[in-house]
Amino acid sequence: MNESTKLINTAHCPDTIGGKPLNTVNPPLFQGSTVLFECCEDMHRAQSGQYGGVTYGTDRLPTQRSFEDALRDIEGGHLCRAFQSGISAITHTLMAFARSGDHILVCENVYGPTARFCDRILSKFNIQTTYVPSAVGGDIVAFIRPETRLIFLESPGSNTFEIQDIPAIAQIAREKGIVTVIDNTWATPLYLKPFALGVDVSIQSVTKYISGHSDVLLGAVTVNAQRAETFANYYKTLEIFASPNDCYLALRGLKTLPVRLKCHEQSALRVARWLETCDVVDEVMHPALPSHPQHHLWRRDFSGSSGLFAFTFKQDWPQSRIAAFVDALDLFGIGFSWGGFKSLITAGQYRRPAGSRYAGRTVIRLNIGLEDPEDLIADLEKGFAAAGVVDQSSSS
Ligand SMILES: *Cc1c(COP(=O)(O)O)cnc(C)c1O
Repeated sequence: MNESTKLINTAHCPDTIGGKPLNTVNPPLFQGSTVLFECCEDMHRAQSGQYGGVTYGTDRLPTQRSFEDALRDIEGGHLCRAFQSGISAITHTLMAFARSGDHILVCENVYGPTARFCDRILSKFNIQTTYVPSAVGGDIVAFIRPETRLIFLESPGSNTFEIQDIPAIAQIAREKGIVTVIDNTWATPLYLKPFALGVDVSIQSVTKYISGHSDVLLGAVTVNAQRAETFANYYKTLEIFASPNDCYLALRGLKTLPVRLKCHEQSALRVARWLETCDVVDEVMHPALPSHPQHHLWRRDFSGSSGLFAFTFKQDWPQSRIAAFVDALDLFGIGFSWGGFKSLITAGQYRRPAGSRYAGRTVIRLNIGLEDPEDLIADLEKGFAAAGVVDQSSSS
């Protein structure tokens, strides 16, 4: 069955009222802290861990479970757990699998707050982080130590969109018993299947494409069978849970993810190809463009591209000129996050080692929303004009 069809038909929760089926198209929203037991004995069973059913709100109510099951199925994993945000999903995954004395490898183009957590918090627990090149592949062996416990990938990575050779890394890690984790937010489970490539753990910032409407903060972690017990026990022990309302909205978002993502993909490609024709633009960082340095890996491992990419200007513009460009845009909102229906822009410099092609460069990142791409191009042309660009290549 096609994935779109599968998603549409996931998470029914039929009930009965008055002896007749009550079968709303959407599953009911369960909210609650207290769950009432039928008798004292059941309560005693719950107290000794023998009950089997849901004993409290933190036990993951049905709305959360429906979302987790739907996402698990589309990721192709064994078990999924929801978190209050994407960054919470990431930090808890690191805490669940790493222990004092361990060493972990993290790709250089990882989401900034992920690196911050490794540097500021994991270090307190005597867990050492080494950053590996953004486009690392089989050469990751050179960084592996006897105490290396975990490899954290993000492909394409934040802001500069380099791609790692995921299957090569996963195979090496498997041979050495190292846990592999990937932040799969950009591709979503529709366009990249980490488990098929040998990865153990796939993380989503559900906040982005899955919820898709910039009204939810939510994260999710899906793990394979081998890592399921460790992860489920960690989650249960910490009594982590996700808001039922947010899970409900995320489940609703999942149903329309395939059509939204296709639209984001096509519009982003239209804008990215146009930017490549602009004289003022240096590099357009988009994995689906043949000019992308790891385009061959994207073609091999991914089945599509989403709506987030970036570009640089030739002879990096000074901040005032970038501000003139950004402030003149009407359709691109200036703001963080991405994956929603509205186009957004950010401009910044990102931590890259000296010698990296992006060290010290200002990166302009576009989240291409669901507007008509021709309107977005016209908006960018207006921005260029406001920044004093004359005679812009008129290939649109
Ligand atoms: C936004 C983002 C996150 C964090 O998600 P939140 O839900 O905003 O906490 C994690 N990884 C990537 C790649 C992101 O872009």
